[in-house]
Amino acid sequence: MTCKRTIAADWAVSSRIVAFSTTRQGGVSESPYASFNLATHVGDDSHRVASNRALLQELLPRAAEWQWLEQVHGNAAVVVNKAGPTLTADAMLTARPNLVCCVQTADCLPVFVAALDGTEVAVIHAGWKGLASGVIENTISRMSTSLSNLAVWLGPAIGPCHFEVGAQVRDSFLAVGGSSSLDSAMEACFISSTNQGKFMADMYAIARLKLSALGIVNISGGNYCTYCDNEQFFSYRRDGTTGRMLNAIYIEA
Ligand SMILES: [Zn+2]
Repeated sequence: MTCKRTIAADWAVSSRIVAFSTTRQGGVSESPYASFNLATHVGDDSHRVASNRALLQELLPRAAEWQWLEQVHGNAAVVVNKAGPTLTADAMLTARPNLVCCVQTADCLPVFVAALDGTEVAVIHAGWKGLASGVIENTISRMSTSLSNLAVWLGPAIGPCHFEVGAQVRDSFLAVGGSSSLDSAMEACFISSTNQGKFMADMYAIARLKLSALGIVNISGGNYCTYCDNEQFFSYRRDGTTGRMLNAIYIEA
């Protein structure tokens, strides 16, 4: 298998948009962070993380600036016009070229959003807490682009084959005042597990449902399971102590 450091977003948007998720391949970190870990907060050697980030930087324009987030499984989305110190939020958006928006994941769902004409981008870190508390809705509401001119790509996350949750997680998505058809569609995102009282949750389906409810029709991706694919992905649920993938999007100048 050849080493592949990134997976490009599979969507039909302006060629000015660059969007990708990294894999765990092609870096310098050692087990349990082997090898392309891009997170500084998971216990990996800081020099190795710096080397990995430098490898990633080589793939980008020299003028590209990074904005980093401290992610807290909340629902805040920040508008960024200039790269600065780390911000606390779980989503960010920008209309400024060469400003790289990124979130780190290892099972949580990275949601990439772009204006079809390449004028605005966003990226969202969506675990179940963020999904339930409206991180997708908050981010979309802050964008200037009309809904029919947005496209979404769902990056690599833990799939319904492995994302087992308790009844309280499922309950947090149901009976939230939506229409009954939306409620039954949301119920279908949770299949009873072989373990009593547990459910297999489909975060991709939940995200698609929420995006569709907002009026976004142009949605792709959602075809990986980070837990299943140990070759390509870190998985917190599978490994506990592990690295993080980076999900980045920017507008080319
Ligand atoms: Zn799986």
